[in-house]
Amino acid sequence: MAEWEAVVGLEVHAHLKTRTKMFCRCPLEYGAAENTRTCPVCLAHPGALPVPNARAIEMTILLGLALDCEIAERAVFARKNYFYPDLPKGYQISQYESPLCGRGRFLLPAVDGEREIGIVRAHLEEDAAKTVHAGGATGRSVGAAYSLVDFNRGGTPLVEIVTGPDLRSAEEAMWFLRLLRQTIVELGISDAEMEKGTLRADVNVSVRRRGEGVLRPRWEIKNLNSFTFVGRAIEAAFRQQVAAHEAGEEVVQSTYDYDPDTDRLTVHRSKEEADDYRYFPEPDLVPLEPPAEVIDRLRGELPERPGERIRRLTGGVGFETAVELVTSGRDGLHDRLVAAGVESRTAANVVMNEVAAAGVDPAAVDAAELAKVVAARERLPRDVWLQAVARSAAPGFRAAPYLEQEAVADEAALEPVVEAVLAAHPEQVATYRGGKEGVLGFFVGQVMRETQGKADPRVVNRLLRDRLRA
Ligand SMILES: [Zn+2]
Repeated sequence: MAEWEAVVGLEVHAHLKTRTKMFCRCPLEYGAAENTRTCPVCLAHPGALPVPNARAIEMTILLGLALDCEIAERAVFARKNYFYPDLPKGYQISQYESPLCGRGRFLLPAVDGEREIGIVRAHLEEDAAKTVHAGGATGRSVGAAYSLVDFNRGGTPLVEIVTGPDLRSAEEAMWFLRLLRQTIVELGISDAEMEKGTLRADVNVSVRRRGEGVLRPRWEIKNLNSFTFVGRAIEAAFRQQVAAHEAGEEVVQSTYDYDPDTDRLTVHRSKEEADDYRYFPEPDLVPLEPPAEVIDRLRGELPERPGERIRRLTGGVGFETAVELVTSGRDGLHDRLVAAGVESRTAANVVMNEVAAAGVDPAAVDAAELAKVVAARERLPRDVWLQAVARSAAPGFRAAPYLEQEAVADEAALEPVVEAVLAAHPEQVATYRGGKEGVLGFFVGQVMRETQGKADPRVVNRLLRDRLRA
């Protein structure tokens, strides 16, 4: 197995978060009652004509810019012809030879630098309606008693992102998919939730011996709806293909289904019966020619991408912490704390530990005020420090009341308290001097009680040890 490597490419579909559908004014509403968001256009009544959704086009261009794609000067919608009950027109409006976004790249941060994953294209199309298989025991088309179609989803704007065969393992493919998903979500163009079907992935997998330049026949695994299944399907394809190559069997290019129950792939259809969609330019729509000023405006809206932020933070806090900060969506607070004067590593620790544990919304934290508490936290009793963190996202949060509770580290102030505690417990003093040093904790507790928890425990420890040694 070790001399083989996986060659993986992904086709990722994401529903765009527009108010209305791609070619009509039906509202997009996840979970609405079946067949209540339809009209003559998305039900393909004769004579109904599509009108493209301008916002969906802008969102696709924004995505293309985030993926460093070439934005087409002229993109053409095309008809992809096939028959299926959830496709009332008998064709899907997609893009074929002239997609809106051409060749691009995605820089995937890695421990040892970064990997460039090629983007072949990103195009805009409409989703099909949803077929619901009912009756029967399996809940799948095979064995169902009957099928129903919900046309609410039909006509939802969908982007398809196609990568090159540049991913080298299941783990890398999952990491890419997670970071691509975060990029899409942060652009505000899709919720991209696999469990709701607003993000779906097909994977193409082949294998080759390490160092081998050729591409062997690949398997396409369709409609994977969780990150785990993407990873497991790639691993299953890898295992089955390596076994076949090593046994001298022919691996045929085919479409496969992944069965999570058996963790195996079964042939869906082979290449000989592959569909021919008879693409041709959509005669009801004019080509898209995005104006340069629109592209410039969208370029100006482009936020710093998650991959770029991981690269920027890696220098200060290391790769793993940078990944943790960015993928948890907490790096923004880290950056604001740093801007308020906190050292990067300290800011990362506070954000990933105390702030995360307190469950406060990082975006709502007043970083300038919290930074003042962070600077004093070594001198604050621990519970005061934690209370400050827990309140740091509340309206009107101020550092001052917490800073006033600074621990008493002044030896002159603590010495009399320490003396009094030792004088009051002669038996425990004898025990300690007899060799049971664990009693020290008892004395620390007594001093903390006498000072209402304000004593600096490090100073108390030192004073106690000095006195007990005497
Ligand atoms: Zn409609």
